[in-house]
Amino acid sequence: MEANSQMSTCGHIRLSGVGVRFTQKRLVTQAVSDVSLEISPGEFVTLLGPSGCGKSTLLNVIAGFVAPTEGSVTMDGVPIVEPHAERCVVFQQYSLFPWLNVRENVEFGLRMKGVPAQKRQQTAREFLRITGLSAFECHYPEQLSGGMKQRVGIARALANNPSVLLLDEPFGALDAQTRVVLQEVLTNIWQRFRISVLFITHDISEAIFLSDRVYVMTAQPGKIKAEVPIPLARPRCDASFEEAGFREIQNHLRHLIREESLRAIGGADIPDLRDDRLANPDPISTTGA
Ligand code: ADP
Ligand code: MG
Repeated sequence: MEANSQMSTCGHIRLSGVGVRFTQKRLVTQAVSDVSLEISPGEFVTLLGPSGCGKSTLLNVIAGFVAPTEGSVTMDGVPIVEPHAERCVVFQQYSLFPWLNVRENVEFGLRMKGVPAQKRQQTAREFLRITGLSAFECHYPEQLSGGMKQRVGIARALANNPSVLLLDEPFGALDAQTRVVLQEVLTNIWQRFRISVLFITHDISEAIFLSDRVYVMTAQPGKIKAEVPIPLARPRCDASFEEAGFREIQNHLRHLIREESLRAIGGADIPDLRDDRLANPDPISTTGA
């Protein structure tokens, strides 16, 4: 990808009736069931749902790491059957090569493709500049903070010139302050390159801040419970959190997620302790008379 590239016309992901069943030691898990969703070229889409609902499974299907047991998955009309550099993944766990410095990490995919040294150094430096890491190109991963490692991961993914970026809870291990900064870095990068993004999180405000659309998933087996457009103005910045519509969408998503989180822990009958009858129980029923 040239660093000044504009909106892409490819990177159209379509899942139709996708189900994934895992069988492990005769134990069968239906991870996701009948999922149909779409990511348009250049769109930022988030999967939001409780732990274990199948978010990573769907991302792995799109990456080409996991084959669906039912349904179809295509990119630009072509079935996805294996991983490809046009769909790059950034995981929550920092997956940098510890024996390579920052620039060499970013160059890695280009080296695998046989790009000449000078060209790949130039590309790596450009993406390190964009992610604010120019001063650290000779550092090794162990010398970096978590937020810096994830920025290297994003720079490394982008250097491969992907049409689709897949991010699986990339900021999940970061402290709250670093997380907010990285959200801004990511939205700025997306605004600039406009590649298709599938982002996974269970953080509602992160999903709203970043996305064009959010798919809310049900508890296992994961299905699409709701599709929520995020019509907040772009480009987004710190002030976006203060927009009138933000709180409204947040409440809506919180309600949807709460239902599923309760279902996921089998606790749909959790009593509401604000209820007067619970605060002042009926004396007859508590004495067992
Ligand atoms: P999420 O990312 O939403 O937390 P996952 O996609 O990781 O959820 O997992 C969904 C369900 O599928 C879970 O019950 C998980 O244990 C199961 N699962 C995921 N991957 C495998 C696998 N490779 N083998 C067996 N079960 C799996
Ligand atoms: Mg996951």
